[in-house]
Amino acid sequence: MTFCTLTIQQAREGLRARQFSSVEITRVFLTRIHELNPTLNAYITVNDDEALAQALAADARMARGDDTPLLGVPIAIKDVLSTRGLRTTAGSRILENYVPTWDATSIKRLRDAGAVFLGKTNLDEFAMGSSTENSGYGVTRNPWDQTRVPGGSSGGSAAAVAADLCCAALGTDTGGSVRQPAALCGITGLKDTYGRVSRNGLIAYGSSLDTVGVLAKTARDAAIVLSVIAGCDPLDSTSVDTPVADYPAALNGSIAGLRIGVPREYFIDGMQAEVTSAVRAGIEQLRQMGATIKEISLPSTHVALPVYYLIAPAEASANLARFDGVRYGLRVPGNDLIDTYGKTRGAGFGAEVKRRIMLGTYALSAGYYDAYYIRAQKVRTLIKQEFERAFDEVDIIASPVTPTTAFKIGEKVDDPIQMYLADVFTLPCNLAGICGISIPCGFDAANLPIGLQLMGKAFDEINLLRIADAYQNETSWHMRKPVLS
Ligand code: GLN
Repeated sequence: MTFCTLTIQQAREGLRARQFSSVEITRVFLTRIHELNPTLNAYITVNDDEALAQALAADARMARGDDTPLLGVPIAIKDVLSTRGLRTTAGSRILENYVPTWDATSIKRLRDAGAVFLGKTNLDEFAMGSSTENSGYGVTRNPWDQTRVPGGSSGGSAAAVAADLCCAALGTDTGGSVRQPAALCGITGLKDTYGRVSRNGLIAYGSSLDTVGVLAKTARDAAIVLSVIAGCDPLDSTSVDTPVADYPAALNGSIAGLRIGVPREYFIDGMQAEVTSAVRAGIEQLRQMGATIKEISLPSTHVALPVYYLIAPAEASANLARFDGVRYGLRVPGNDLIDTYGKTRGAGFGAEVKRRIMLGTYALSAGYYDAYYIRAQKVRTLIKQEFERAFDEVDIIASPVTPTTAFKIGEKVDDPIQMYLADVFTLPCNLAGICGISIPCGFDAANLPIGLQLMGKAFDEINLLRIADAYQNETSWHMRKPVLS
């Protein structure tokens, strides 16, 4: 048996049955990471010694009879979540030497549940991007074709899961950063409802959009991780006090009678034909499994992109003000304070981050604030209301995740608008604050994975995961593996 292909569920079963120890599987993962990471660049930091210590501790806990949901399971963490004692860069040179003294709430919950942290994964700087090419630590390569991007911004986490460099990984999704790389890497990516998982300790990008999500090999694994990380947190006033379900227990394989809406605005000119047909076939599969399918309309879909690219940079420009060379991170001394700010930020931030700070600062400046930011917020409300109306008629909305399969490294870097278009189908979900998941539903002629997106009502992760799990019981797309030398 090759341990690296283990799902969380299989790892827990094997650990519980004493077929292998956590130290044993952790070692195998670390060896594979050292073999493949020099080419894939999925990890920025590998947590060798500490991971083995955690594995040893997990084995000791198991010997005492402990049985927490992630006990001894090796996972990876997007490097934008603060990890106590473990370098956290946010993909930026400005935080190259930053070692947090505390854990993000989601990380603390994983730690308490017994997870082993293999390392921190690569991302677009401050989670701004769709290809992981904006990282200050080099691009991550797509395990299915190393000349192509893994998607972004959680590209390192997606590549690590797809290449079996971990059992599962945490990511974050502000406009699609869990679902889009999951689709391009052929794995499962869950973006939970805004407020379901605490953002405390997540290095902020767009605070009204940011969510902590899960990249996994199966929907069931995503459910297992969600049950651990979800829940209200006094340290995040936007985390919501609704009960956390036992998500894995809710996966009963049945979707009979579920109403699925297919928005016509999500099938547009210029999409790759193979994506359209695979997604349509996935929806047909759901119909055969007992769901009813209904065409619906979300007429404001086309304005989600401009609305997002006003709100997200506006919030980012405020959030990133804290990287000033004074509090923590890089400091490039100047002649005076203003000069120090300028030199530090000039040297520490990459081009895309600077672009977003300028866009956001402009949109928030006196005289433009009403015309851009306020107007964008009003349209955001309309988008949210359209989803609410749609969910009066249907339980779940199905659509493509991305207009194309993985594109070539370098293909879109010089054209920000083309890059932004990679997220047209994922952004609306964040603007509306609802939940969504990407699951593998096919491959194109070049053997590149295609994702099916399912979107659910706010806090209806149960139905979302149930349908994704049921689909994976009937299909094998999620079980295909890239060939890696
Ligand atoms: N690609 C989008 C952006 O660049 C979304 C990123 C994300 O979800 N973090 O903003």
